[in-house]
Amino acid sequence: MVSTEYERRIAARFATFDQDGNGWIDREDFNVAAKALLAEFATPARSAKGQALYAGAEAFWQGMAGIADRDGDQRITRQEFVSGAVKRLRDNPDRFAEIARPFLHAALALAAPVGDGSAAVADIVRVLLALGVREDIAGQVAATLDTDGDGRLGEAEIVPAVARYFTVPE
Ligand code: CA
Ligand code: CA
Repeated sequence: MVSTEYERRIAARFATFDQDGNGWIDREDFNVAAKALLAEFATPARSAKGQALYAGAEAFWQGMAGIADRDGDQRITRQEFVSGAVKRLRDNPDRFAEIARPFLHAALALAAPVGDGSAAVADIVRVLLALGVREDIAGQVAATLDTDGDGRLGEAEIVPAVARYFTVPE
């Protein structure tokens, strides 16, 4: 089977969600992601930031399941991801931003404990690496997002960028 560039990109997106690598996306993958971020930023799960991150992860999972888990078995298979999530999110990137925002907001709060809610690019790279994104890609992504070059990234830059990444055009 010929693998197109598009298929390779979809496979990479799926792998990003399938944090435990067992071949499907479920609630556990979102918990794994939250746990990895809390460990990276040495934040207890029971703290306010930890609870916000887990709540965001749950909302993210519920949103993805609502869009893509067609047979309702609480698992998003690769087939469901491609036929459900990718197509529907591409038609409506705002919807993706909406379901991902609480998680991204909480992740940003871990990386940026003070200030205007923005985070240093280096800390955004730590977030991406903790989520299993390859080092070269993480560095590239963070540098690309920092369009004004001040070394910091805010929610207004991050949420649309993540939505664009996951709503990859054909
Ligand atoms: Ca999984
Ligand atoms: Ca399913």
